[in-house]
Amino acid sequence: MRRAIFLDRDGTINEDLHYLHEAEKVILCPEAGKGLRLLADAGYELIVITNQSGVGRGYFPIEDVYQVNRRLDELLEEVGVHILKYYIAPESPDEPSLGRKPLPGFVYQARDEFELDLNRSFFIGDKRSDLETGWNAGLQGGVLVRTGKGSVEEKKYPELRQKAYICDNLREAAEYILQEEKGRERKEKK
Ligand SMILES: [Mg+2]
Repeated sequence: MRRAIFLDRDGTINEDLHYLHEAEKVILCPEAGKGLRLLADAGYELIVITNQSGVGRGYFPIEDVYQVNRRLDELLEEVGVHILKYYIAPESPDEPSLGRKPLPGFVYQARDEFELDLNRSFFIGDKRSDLETGWNAGLQGGVLVRTGKGSVEEKKYPELRQKAYICDNLREAAEYILQEEKGRERKEKK
């Protein structure tokens, strides 16, 4: 079975411009390309799960979300990274949704679609709700990056320290996950 890294989009892979919806404004977060490349090279599938309540709130159409994703794909392609699939929750927070984080619906959907081993998969995000999504789905672990809203969330929810690994960017997140994987393999060999 395949292992996956579930990723938040805004503030984790690309800079979080408030309700980003213009493709030409997409900028990668520092070290994001490097981190994703490390994970891809280690055999992880990369899957994005993104809440886009701007659609449900009527701020922009879903097509804008697709265009931003396509632009992100172009930028990541330049560093040899491919996102397997984007799962989008377009609802506003007061609407019912199967996949709006922290609900784990999209993680389960991806598991079934791509035969993923959730026990050996991780969630990386810049918000508590990203990590909760991973915990709700029973993933191996979660990483909070201090890009985007991450440093604010770290101060706001000090308890995150106990349950999540916290680091500056996606490259550090990738290095942590690869270490964890090595440690786990060592234990399994014993
Ligand atoms: Mg985010």
